[in-house]
Amino acid sequence: MLQLHLEEPATGKPLATIDAFDESQVDSAFDRARRAQREWASTPVPQRARIFLRYHDLLLDRQEEMMDLIQAESGKNRKSAHEEILDSALTARHYANRAATLLRSRRARPTLPLLTTTHVDHCPVGVVGMIAPWNYPLVLAISDAVAALLAGNAVVLKPDAKTPLTALKAADLLVEAGLPPELLQVTPGSGGVVGQAIATRCDYLMFTGSTATGRVLGAQAGERLVGFSAELGGKNAMIVADDADTGKAAAGAVNACFSNSGQLCISIERVFVHRAVADEFIAGFVEQVQAMRVGAGPDWDIDMGSLISADHHARVSAFVDDAVSKGARVLAGGRSLGGNFYAPTVLIDVPHDADLYRQEVFGPVVWIEVVDTLDEAVAKANDTDYGLNASIWARPATGLALARRIEAGTVNINEGYAAAWSSLHAPMGGWKASGVGRRHGEEGLLKFTEPRTIAIQRFVPVAGPSSMSDARYADVLRGVLKAGKRILP
Ligand code: NDP
Repeated sequence: MLQLHLEEPATGKPLATIDAFDESQVDSAFDRARRAQREWASTPVPQRARIFLRYHDLLLDRQEEMMDLIQAESGKNRKSAHEEILDSALTARHYANRAATLLRSRRARPTLPLLTTTHVDHCPVGVVGMIAPWNYPLVLAISDAVAALLAGNAVVLKPDAKTPLTALKAADLLVEAGLPPELLQVTPGSGGVVGQAIATRCDYLMFTGSTATGRVLGAQAGERLVGFSAELGGKNAMIVADDADTGKAAAGAVNACFSNSGQLCISIERVFVHRAVADEFIAGFVEQVQAMRVGAGPDWDIDMGSLISADHHARVSAFVDDAVSKGARVLAGGRSLGGNFYAPTVLIDVPHDADLYRQEVFGPVVWIEVVDTLDEAVAKANDTDYGLNASIWARPATGLALARRIEAGTVNINEGYAAAWSSLHAPMGGWKASGVGRRHGEEGLLKFTEPRTIAIQRFVPVAGPSSMSDARYADVLRGVLKAGKRILP
């Protein structure tokens, strides 16, 4: 049997060894999930919702234990681990409280009022497959599963092979909260084996991870004609306008660029600052970055943890070394701090042929470019294959006008990423190569359902009464359509 040997990224110490699933075990997981889903689909939504509200409370009651585990397997600092608890609890509460309304069968306006009555049901798709990454092992594995389960589905979830323990623990909490155990099958293992087994069996596929893997999985979902959504990479831009509060912008940039060691799909990797405020902003930002405390452990005062692995550390270092060798100047960091720790890094004068000018680093590295106009800032912010998130620091009116020109799924004004991400009533996801579909908002739950339209016809068939000739009926319809143009949508 294949095993996953897990180690703590921050210390290099062994953490656990667990069995990985093989294809036939994923098959059995799907069988169990399918059987359980049939009964779950007929469980009233308020009854389902109560389970997730209990999960919300259990998660908050056990948050210390959960944060310890998240930190151990991901290397992140305490504050980033706490963000996961808050986000996961809030999302569970949000969808538990909204599910009955979202899933209610609703009346839809028919073309022939009085003659046709139309209802739309939202039916579960069946078994949702989920493939999750390592950077937010609780949020990106479990929060979407909560929405899919509330919608009446079962879920087969593959956590990242580096971080399966958090998902396993959260599944235990859900069972403790009352979820029938077979409904959420957590199947640790590699993407090549378990991820592929899920992609070729599920009734809907939800993926969070790299754009390259997203393309492969999207093609497979297309081939099988099952629904697919994906949140992928980003090369997110921040604009600091000439009317920005530069003190707040500098503090906001620290959080936006270095939360979770920059291993965050919505974190900022490019800053375009207006020349009028550039010196002030850059000085304030760099000073705060140089003062950041980087380290391991549960101390809330540590500003940044480690990277996920030695491989990722090497990748981040290579990006910075490549940029520096091509002429970039280091304003802060730019070096390893030993082990899997990398200093929070700010670069300027990055040449366009440096790899990190366009490619996502997914680490604690940001570059700054000074611009002469806000038009230039918007054009450069949009000059990317990605379109996930953006941040604008400006007076609200300036910020709003700029935001409406940004090609990205979320734009935060006077915040880095948290304002839009935490707006759970609003959709979250990417334009261009940053993704397909959305999490959060109505779509974050309804995408896990198939609409079923039921229309009841009365008195006269849609094709016209049998007593009337087709030519006469065509005349009547012409009159009805013209008369109804302004009142019927
Ligand atoms: P991957 O896309 O390779 O991995 C994400 C998940 O997909 C993992 O669970 C992985 O399994 C699985 N997977 C990989 N290949 C396949 C496949 N062929 N079929 C099915 N499942 C598969 O991302 P990485 O972890 O390698 O990260 C690389 C980059 O992706 C990052 O540097 C960043 O740019 C981006 N990323 C974006 C994230 C986001 O939040 N949007 C999150 C994480 C990464 P396994 O356990 O074997 O790795």
